[in-house]
Amino acid sequence: NAKKAGRNTWRVFRPGMDELIEKRRALEADIERGLPRGEFLLYLQPRVAAPSGTISGYEALLRWNHPVRGMIQPGDFIPVAEVSGKIIALGQFVLEEACRLLQGLEERLHVSVNVSPVQFRHPDFVRDIQDLLRRSTIDPSRLELEITESVLIEDDDHATAVLDQLKTLGLRIALDDFGTGYSSLSYLSRYPFDVIKIDRSFVDALGREDNATAIVRSIIDLGTALGLHIVAEGVETLDQARYLADAGCDELQGYLLGRPAAPELAIRQIDRDVARALRQAALSRNQV
Ligand code: C2E
Ligand code: MG
Ligand code: MG
Ligand code: MG
Repeated sequence: NAKKAGRNTWRVFRPGMDELIEKRRALEADIERGLPRGEFLLYLQPRVAAPSGTISGYEALLRWNHPVRGMIQPGDFIPVAEVSGKIIALGQFVLEEACRLLQGLEERLHVSVNVSPVQFRHPDFVRDIQDLLRRSTIDPSRLELEITESVLIEDDDHATAVLDQLKTLGLRIALDDFGTGYSSLSYLSRYPFDVIKIDRSFVDALGREDNATAIVRSIIDLGTALGLHIVAEGVETLDQARYLADAGCDELQGYLLGRPAAPELAIRQIDRDVARALRQAALSRNQV
């Protein structure tokens, strides 16, 4: 009968379910254990001013140096950290570490950090940042928070209030992965962004898809008209860098200009790669 069939079905599925839940619990426990042991660290990826080619700052990207599994990318643990709430402690670590790194960098350089929607909606978020800034000596305008549209869809009034308070504290706010959400354009006028980061899917399509150049150019023109600072993500080729710089992009970020790396390495790597890439770009521009 149905009752019996249901029970049998349950028996069939249970081992798989248990295994998934068990894996997630183990990962959660590992995060909790690993954070105080210093297993988490920030990599830095350079952001380069266009067209001068000088480094203007870095994006901080979280990595987990797991004792058994080695270096783990954020895509493999942030979703679990978000569901379990561990993202709050991780996010706090990222902010503190970013402030610490900023203290050791030239004053003209900025660092951006990614903020999870779960972190953004936490009632203590603004207060924790306020405390952090009070304890730190850095100029708050050197710290940029990158948020995605997923933060904004949920609860407009709350998001507006949080963003206004962050602006009052002097932080810069960037809209990350611009163009991938549903209402990107209306968000630009409704919320107090300083920066938009053009999603790398658009950069990737440059020169390959018919409408890509028109889309990228209109994002840059609109953003510039609204007084926003425009950053392009995922710049991998010199052709892309040249096009974006000529179209009026303010900053470039991507493997061409430097991969995310441990802070000491990030700073060394850039000098070589960026100098070469942008010197070439400038040369070819002069030849046209
Ligand atoms: P995102 O904020 O859009 O970061 C850019 C991602 O693109 C990074 O991946 C970076 O390594 C990668 N990338 C940079 N340049 C290129 C390029 O030229 N080509 C390609 N194909 N990829 C490039 P990563 O480090 O794996 O981070 C993935 C995502 O994880 C980030 O996307 C961000 O949403 C999230 N994330 C990273 N760190 C943190 C963090 O500290 N907190 C939170 N909440 N999320 C984080
Ligand atoms: Mg980002
Ligand atoms: Mg992005
Ligand atoms: Mg992203």
